Amino acid sequence: MSRVFVTRPIPEIGIKLLKDKGYEVVVNTAAEDRAATKEEMVEGVKGVDAMLSVLTEKVTDDVMEAGAPTLKIIANYAVGFDNVDIEAAKKRNIMVTNTPGVLTNTVAEHTFALMLAIAHRIGEADRFSRADKYKAWGPQLLLGTDLSGKTLGVVGLGRIGSRVAYHAVKGFDMKVVYTDPKPNPEFEKEYGAKFIEKLDDLLAQSDFVSIHVPLLPSTLHLINEKNLGQMKPSAYLVNTSRGPIIDEKALAIALREKWIRGAALDVFEFEPAITPALKELDNVILTPHIASATDETRNAMAEIAAKNIIEALEGRTPPNLIK
Ligand code: NAD
Repeated sequence: MSRVFVTRPIPEIGIKLLKDKGYEVVVNTAAEDRAATKEEMVEGVKGVDAMLSVLTEKVTDDVMEAGAPTLKIIANYAVGFDNVDIEAAKKRNIMVTNTPGVLTNTVAEHTFALMLAIAHRIGEADRFSRADKYKAWGPQLLLGTDLSGKTLGVVGLGRIGSRVAYHAVKGFDMKVVYTDPKPNPEFEKEYGAKFIEKLDDLLAQSDFVSIHVPLLPSTLHLINEKNLGQMKPSAYLVNTSRGPIIDEKALAIALREKWIRGAALDVFEFEPAITPALKELDNVILTPHIASATDETRNAMAEIAAKNIIEALEGRTPPNLIK
């Protein structure tokens, strides 16, 4: 009988798919509200055929060693896979899969929720109202910024970035500029988007900047003290990709000293810790890595991760194999 270790509880639909195949499924229920510890992973992965990991876990070579020689597949419950040592897995002939596509709409919606929230000062306004500070309607009370007519700079026009750009053009009358190592002339033609080769040029031109690149050595601190200084003082920065892409210390300074007008972040450099200086600022919206957190999407992710495991254990190539 095949055995599967699941590092943290995920929606039941995925567990059921695995159990329906007759697999023995062990869920690390101790890690309900926290990341699984390395000890739990090393213990849990012993003698299993498959591991279903969550992005909070660092799946290192040591963990894979503990699963050798039976471990055949690590199905990561996320589209990003920077938490898995892909090279180590390749050397050990362990397949790694992710859950692309099903998160795209949800993350794009959350990106817009953040963009609207920071531009219309929703967080500040909510705190203001709860503190009983609302005494009278005011012509200049909590003035924000329109999205309509503004330029959105998309950094990384992949699945999520292009969906965000689509909403910007179709829903909000925004102009879109983007940068990506792979330009997309078809998208440009259809949505009037403009390719900008250099990130610094995109930052200088954009009223809103939204980050949608994977975390790679080349994207670590892609947004830093130097290029934050090139943004417009009226600009907003939104990040729903991965925290370490932004130098958070530099961002806190930029926000405090008003180099830019605001930021909205779903992900953090030292997650789950949030740079204390950011929490003290009013011109930043913070959400705890929930951009894909809807019932529909989390169920779909559980299904996809389970299906990747089933395909691999039945000897077929899983649909979302990372090459
Ligand atoms: P994708 O692979 O479809 O798109 C990434 C794009 O970034 C690609 O077009 C790629 O060419 C481009 N890119 C790579 N390096 C770049 C660089 N230096 N400059 C500009 N562009 C660059 O991935 P996706 O499905 O759109 O997801 C993007 C990322 O979003 C994921 O890697 C993941 O880390 C993150 N994500 C976060 C959440 C969340 O909950 N906050 C949810 C899903 C995905």
